[in-house]
Amino acid sequence: MVLIFKSGIALVFLWSCPRPSGCYNTLRIKGYFMRPHVVVNVAMSADGKISTRERRQVKISGPEDFLRVDRLKAASDAVMVGIGTVLADDPSLTVKSDDLKRKRKEQGKDEHPVRVIVDSTARIPLSASVLRKGEGVRVVAVSRKADPAKVAELEHLAKVIVAGEDDVDLRSVLDQLGSMGVRHMMVEGGGTLIASLFGNGLVDEFYTFVGNIIIGGVDAPTPADGGGFIKEVDFPRLALLEAIHMGEGVVLHWNVKEGNKK
Ligand code: NAP
Repeated sequence: MVLIFKSGIALVFLWSCPRPSGCYNTLRIKGYFMRPHVVVNVAMSADGKISTRERRQVKISGPEDFLRVDRLKAASDAVMVGIGTVLADDPSLTVKSDDLKRKRKEQGKDEHPVRVIVDSTARIPLSASVLRKGEGVRVVAVSRKADPAKVAELEHLAKVIVAGEDDVDLRSVLDQLGSMGVRHMMVEGGGTLIASLFGNGLVDEFYTFVGNIIIGGVDAPTPADGGGFIKEVDFPRLALLEAIHMGEGVVLHWNVKEGNKK
């Protein structure tokens, strides 16, 4: 029997009856995991685009929002992006503020959270900033489609998690991150990964910085791309927690309603 509590803790009870005369139950805790709390953060233009149609990174927010995002990252155990973002922007996903890095060290942590890249076929370049810059653990989550030779090379730079046949199985990755001690994870994009996380009911909180520019373009990425939801019953529902005027834009902080999390 498996009991899964709301917190994500799973207890597997094994019932055994070794002697016919005195059947008794042996309780053994076999498995334990806790899926991380997932907070998505993204910056978009006033018309809802997160980069140009050429997938070129653009400055959407300002210094106040950079600091908010840096604080969010520093407070997280892990930060995740999709391979599309790594190939487009080559982010390092490091904490930028010296003060926040020092505080993490004082708490006995690495300067930077665990950096997680979702990359089914292990396309990530070995020179990627996220694999090279700053101390700390890296995780590359691949599927069984990934080339074993590339995986072997990556294993010198990162822990490689294999999950899923074609795309990466995000639920399995989150469970494995949970078993590594990741309790709080920030997701920095892009739109394809965020859409998948929403589609799988894996998002808990959603921050959007809405900036004062129009990017336009029907093919420009948005915060949740992918195939989209068709039926209203499938639309993830949010509750607004805060709307904060920040610099020349606004930060919207949403909670994902309980029925929309799996
Ligand atoms: P992405 O979401 O970063 O990565 C998506 C890729 O991840 C997929 O194409 C797929 O590639 C891989 N993947 C593997 N398993 C997956 C799964 N289960 N679900 C979803 N993806 C999975 O890429 P993107 O949508 O192209 O977004 C990149 C764009 O977003 C760039 O233009 C970047 O500048 C922008 N961006 C903006 C912000 C912002 O805050 N404004 C933040 C981040 C990114 P494989 O099949 O090859 O594995």
